[in-house]
Amino acid sequence: MTAAGDRLGPTLFERSHPGRGGGKIPHPPKDALARIPADQLRTEGPNLPEVAEPELTRHYINLSQLNYAIDSGFYPLGSCTMKWNPKVNEWAARLPGFVSLHPFAPDELAQGSLQLLWELEQALAEIGGMRAVTLQPAAGAQGELTGILMVRAYHRSRSDLERSEVLVPDSAHGTNPATASMAGFKTVSIASASDGGVDIAAFRAALGPRTAAVMITNPSTLGLFESRIGELLDAVHAVGALAYMDGANLNAIMGRFKPGEAGFDVMHINVHKTFSTPHGGGGPGAGPVGVGEKLLPFLPSPRVLRESDGRFRLEHAGERPSSIGRIRSFAGNTAVLVRAYAYIRAHGASGLREVSDDAVLAANYMKSQVAGVLDVPFARHCMHEFVASSATLKAETGIRTLDVAKRLIDLGFHPPTIYFPLTVEEALLIEPTETESIETLDAFVEALRAIVHEAHVDPDLLHSAPHSSPVRRLDETSAARQPNLRWRAMTGGQTPCPD
Ligand SMILES: *Cc1c(COP(=O)(O)O)cnc(C)c1O
Repeated sequence: MTAAGDRLGPTLFERSHPGRGGGKIPHPPKDALARIPADQLRTEGPNLPEVAEPELTRHYINLSQLNYAIDSGFYPLGSCTMKWNPKVNEWAARLPGFVSLHPFAPDELAQGSLQLLWELEQALAEIGGMRAVTLQPAAGAQGELTGILMVRAYHRSRSDLERSEVLVPDSAHGTNPATASMAGFKTVSIASASDGGVDIAAFRAALGPRTAAVMITNPSTLGLFESRIGELLDAVHAVGALAYMDGANLNAIMGRFKPGEAGFDVMHINVHKTFSTPHGGGGPGAGPVGVGEKLLPFLPSPRVLRESDGRFRLEHAGERPSSIGRIRSFAGNTAVLVRAYAYIRAHGASGLREVSDDAVLAANYMKSQVAGVLDVPFARHCMHEFVASSATLKAETGIRTLDVAKRLIDLGFHPPTIYFPLTVEEALLIEPTETESIETLDAFVEALRAIVHEAHVDPDLLHSAPHSSPVRRLDETSAARQPNLRWRAMTGGQTPCPD
């Protein structure tokens, strides 16, 4: 790997010059030092960089411009719903009444926040067709764990102690099997049918008295709607198991399909995806979980309650002994929940339905365009995302999906999700979302077309891409296993990112 020019400039420590500075700090009282206990006093000054304000500002502004974000360009990362995050959400989340509320404030002083949380629970329950919702989980993955812990509590409450297995299709997000294992279950992976959907016969064969739950993503991670879901849910319930829906793909179905009404007992919602909180950097998010009647008693505590006089309060400790207890501190990632509330209220019911309709339209449009460039393995109508593949390109030119993705960076686009789902060779999972213009979608398809042309005439250009980014192609294994995250003083001719 090599560093690309001065965009990865020196750190603030390297820019530091003794005596330089920006801020004017008022002089402390004369006896300030005397007021601090002697054993608490530093013996040496702090090792802080000394730079002037313009250097400091430019340093951070330049760093921020190394980042790729939805605010700077198209971000078709499948399964992640990188839609535009309306700025009105940021205004709402920064209102002083929300930001300044102390987490231990008594309920009487927190009525506005409690009301918002209560109303958001109602809205999400309505959207999902669920009986009630908890807002506590801090991410989709934690929502899954919350849901499966409730399933475990449900079976235990009926003294049904033999249920040790959770069935998961092989196209599932990796968090599904991880959740089942963390909750103490054995994951049984079920192969998908050849059309990419769930294989009902294979599920039936695996279902039995040991099944605690099945975890299904609908639409699936291939962007396909499981139209035989009713049949599957009947079979699951007939053996006394419960059905978990991974609701991360909710952006495709709002106003069209309510998982709770279809018979799912529990599902999580990634509000940072569907309801637009910036989440490209890995957080913060929120993964509220909706439940049907059977799991209602087990919801995490404390729940937000509305009293008959209209006041809101949090449940008292121990008020509902059947609860699985607390999943996260306080009320969850409240600022993310405020953004979700703002988004839902801004759109209204018909607006949310339009969001899903437009997301599905954009994905199908793009799929039809990409079909002239790369392989598109599943012919049927997709939902909010679709899978393409470079398998033919690889056979013809040796260019792999990884090369295509890296070259897209040079052409100004964030690459789509690659090599997921694992069931498709050389996969690209493309999710355009409803917030992009048709010109942007077309420009992305043109970039793919240009790359396929390059693959035939100049494959080396692609093997060594990206060429224009701050860092070149990383060794992904070392980058993941031995990340170099600590600053060390550089000597001589070292570059900021040594080869
Ligand atoms: C994003 C996603 C998850 C995990 O959600 P996090 O909020 O990242 O923990 C789970 N399942 C699917 C299908 C997803 O797309």
